[in-house]
Amino acid sequence: VVFEVLILGSSSATPIYQRHPSAQLLNIHERFFLVDCGEGTQMQLNRYKIKYPRIHHIFISHLHGDHYFGLMGLLSSMHLQGRTDEMHLYCPKELQEIIDIQLKYSDTRLRFNLIYHFTDHETSKTIFEDDDLTVETIILNHRIPCTGFLFREKPKKRKLLREKLEQYHVPREQYSALKSGQDYVNDRGVVIPNEKLTDDPKAPCSYAYCSDTMYDERIIPQIKNVDLLYHESTFLEDKADRAKETFHTTARQAGLMARKAEVKRLIIGHFSSRYKDIYPLLEEAKQVFPDTSLAQEGDKFIIE
Ligand SMILES: [Zn+2]
Ligand SMILES: [Zn+2]
Repeated sequence: VVFEVLILGSSSATPIYQRHPSAQLLNIHERFFLVDCGEGTQMQLNRYKIKYPRIHHIFISHLHGDHYFGLMGLLSSMHLQGRTDEMHLYCPKELQEIIDIQLKYSDTRLRFNLIYHFTDHETSKTIFEDDDLTVETIILNHRIPCTGFLFREKPKKRKLLREKLEQYHVPREQYSALKSGQDYVNDRGVVIPNEKLTDDPKAPCSYAYCSDTMYDERIIPQIKNVDLLYHESTFLEDKADRAKETFHTTARQAGLMARKAEVKRLIIGHFSSRYKDIYPLLEEAKQVFPDTSLAQEGDKFIIE
């Protein structure tokens, strides 16, 4: 079962030094979720051979251009390719106006429906849910309304132990009750405890995307213990004042967030164009949280 994050863009503000503005593609159980869509995202999708029709859900954190300037181009290409499947957009409500006006003045009527799910930047909400996954918004602290996204698998069913089922002659129609944790009572009224017949399921996987934001510990309870945290890290700590003024985070602060939230792994990204070499950002975050990686175009992070 797949749960992976592909980095399409890692730059803040402008494309520079081969770095592209923010975009990531999540593959969760073979469903594709695009998270932010900076300029050039479709070029990056082409580069990594991602077929556009596979994407049905696009999440936009906020309306700074480095997070959505690629959206109109991508939607337009999907239209030209003849797409008819609806596209779900999870975004600030103002994005609809921005899209509508571009469609209006180009006299374009998309062949597919855009279904909007507006984010609320004051209260965290579940904005996507299906059989095995939920996506919640994370309230971030940025210059304009901005939400992150928390992707979390639902708790999985217990695993049946085939040889034990045979040993205790458990009828097939009991399997589904066993998977949800019930004990088995045989025809003589003997209770066989569930843990004799099943094994613990794999822990649900989780991924938190936090860009853009200033350092804000109010985020911690929601992202506690996630398997993988992406946190923006626009500056080095010697630019902490600049980070605060612009509502961004330093590498050290991103490391602190990861440590305090006791996450398993951290990815840092959204690097300022002032840094041609981004390894000092990695070193700084690692001093606080050793299991840190840089978000770099083409990198794939697998959660197991
Ligand atoms: Zn940004
Ligand atoms: Zn921003």
